[in-house]
Amino acid sequence: MKKNFLRVISVCLCIVLMASVGAVGVFAADKRTACGADCAYYPTIIVPGLGQSSVVVLDDDGDFLLDKDGNKISAFPAYIQTKQLVKRAFFPALLSLLTQRDAGLSNAVADAIGMSFGINASDLYAQNTGNVQVEKFPYSYAECNDYERGIINSHIPFDLYPTDLPLDHLYYFSYNSFGNHIDIVNELYTYIQMVKVQTGHRKVNLVPLSQGGTVVSAMLDYYPQVSADLHKVLFVVPALDGSKLIGDVFNDRITFLDSDYLYHGFLEDMRLLDEKTAGLIEVLLRLLPDSVIINSLQKGVKCLVEDVMIRSTSMWALCPSGDYPSAAERYLSSPEMAAIRSQTDRYYQAQLHARDNIQTLTERGVQVFCVAEYDYALINVGENWNTENADFIIQLDSTSMGAYAANVGETLPEGYEQKNTHCSDPTHHHISPDHVVDASAGLLPDTTFYFDAQRHDLTQYNDVILKLAMELIAHDDITDVYADPAFPQFNNGRNVKTILPLLSQAKDVDAAKLSGDKAKALTDAIAQSEEVLSRTVGAAGEIEAAEQALTDALVNAGVVKANKKGKNIFTPISEWLYAHYGTKSFSEIPRAAVRNVLQSITDFFRKTAHI
Ligand SMILES: [Zn+2]
Ligand SMILES: [Zn+2]
Repeated sequence: MKKNFLRVISVCLCIVLMASVGAVGVFAADKRTACGADCAYYPTIIVPGLGQSSVVVLDDDGDFLLDKDGNKISAFPAYIQTKQLVKRAFFPALLSLLTQRDAGLSNAVADAIGMSFGINASDLYAQNTGNVQVEKFPYSYAECNDYERGIINSHIPFDLYPTDLPLDHLYYFSYNSFGNHIDIVNELYTYIQMVKVQTGHRKVNLVPLSQGGTVVSAMLDYYPQVSADLHKVLFVVPALDGSKLIGDVFNDRITFLDSDYLYHGFLEDMRLLDEKTAGLIEVLLRLLPDSVIINSLQKGVKCLVEDVMIRSTSMWALCPSGDYPSAAERYLSSPEMAAIRSQTDRYYQAQLHARDNIQTLTERGVQVFCVAEYDYALINVGENWNTENADFIIQLDSTSMGAYAANVGETLPEGYEQKNTHCSDPTHHHISPDHVVDASAGLLPDTTFYFDAQRHDLTQYNDVILKLAMELIAHDDITDVYADPAFPQFNNGRNVKTILPLLSQAKDVDAAKLSGDKAKALTDAIAQSEEVLSRTVGAAGEIEAAEQALTDALVNAGVVKANKKGKNIFTPISEWLYAHYGTKSFSEIPRAAVRNVLQSITDFFRKTAHI
């Protein structure tokens, strides 16, 4: 009996031992990192923003659809099939032009939107119905091939900004920006567990960018235990309380459906087109009566919002908590929307808890940093575009977790004292040098970095933000905004997209072939650019000044041609038309006036051709 008992025990022990050896074997085999799980770095997972994952179109057989150059076709933000669109819209547009009424144009516009954005539509359970595939990387950057690295670098240029973090510790989590939010959150949680197994490390860093902030925020609420897996979280312009832009769109507060604004001010306020192009478009809009234009836009917006956006729970996660109840009432109160509503209601709760959940994270010893940008009014699509400080895409209150700020172009009142909602150190000064932001009202006043006059969608061209991020993901030396004078709490926005190629072009010029003056101007301009780029702190406008010096020197050296800015006649014409005839189309304006406009345009082109 005793023998048998011992035998059973020993057999059991053997099984346990074998199983554990086996488990270790499996675990060790999965440890792909060179460090053998024993290094000072933490695996870091990027959770990208809107449209920063590659989502591609498939054909009916499930193979990649390719363009004429053999490249995969992106489904973000839409799948544009030019030929089909022309086929659908050409005759209704022509007929509407000839008859000066809506001869099917508005329906054609709605169909065109449907044909293009339909690829990102979802069913009544918020599952994508389009034939698309997200290109995922369930392995580190070190294991990505050139094509995959190209995708990652096009969004976050690791190739331009090297980090000390070993590349086998760097991961990029892809997801569909129009996808099912809860599924994406579940996938991220699983992905974190996978990274732990692959690297052998027990904790990881997370870098949620923009929309990625909503994914991480939801994960903290649905999986509170994830805090044990985290070493550091670096939020970069996170949409933690959504974007007022979406809040306005989901509440039917759209600016450009007002013809007065559309014909006069909308395109200039948008700040994406140069004045001349904006003026030209305003003049062209008068080819049709404004009722036809507005009707077409209205149907297009309705199609985009009702057929695509309101069935996407990822889009709903971008709706601010203050705008959600009324928007949900408007679009999700019918019984057929109940399945979507239960998912968006769940996220709404996570959104309301976001700041508390992040607070809990810090109390559990996770380091949390944030980068916020300000002094750029929201793009003017929603009626609330200029009611509070923002970064063009998201209001500052959302990205900074509650910082108090004056609106764009304004300053805090004279004698304003910082609120100290979240900072208890009386020696800390958290008001921005331009007297616009009070960082002490934000949840993380000592670990949030602010960039003035920085556009959200151009963040990847701010070399300082990238250098800061590369430092934070590799090391723990920067503990707060006071730790490194190279990265102060308040800094200037910048955009190095143009200066970097210009600088390498200038360096390629053989100065020996230039005259003394020209060679010196070029050398000086190169030195000026390099000096500015070597610093992470500096004055606003320095990059633009260095860029201009480089351009001038290159033009002077005969390497590039001077960029002549053509005279803008369209803005004055558009303004004259608006002042005299409001939003009337050419067909509603007296013939003589139309002749005058045509004459001045013809004269302009004749003169330009003559020159
Ligand atoms: Zn390691
Ligand atoms: Zn403080």
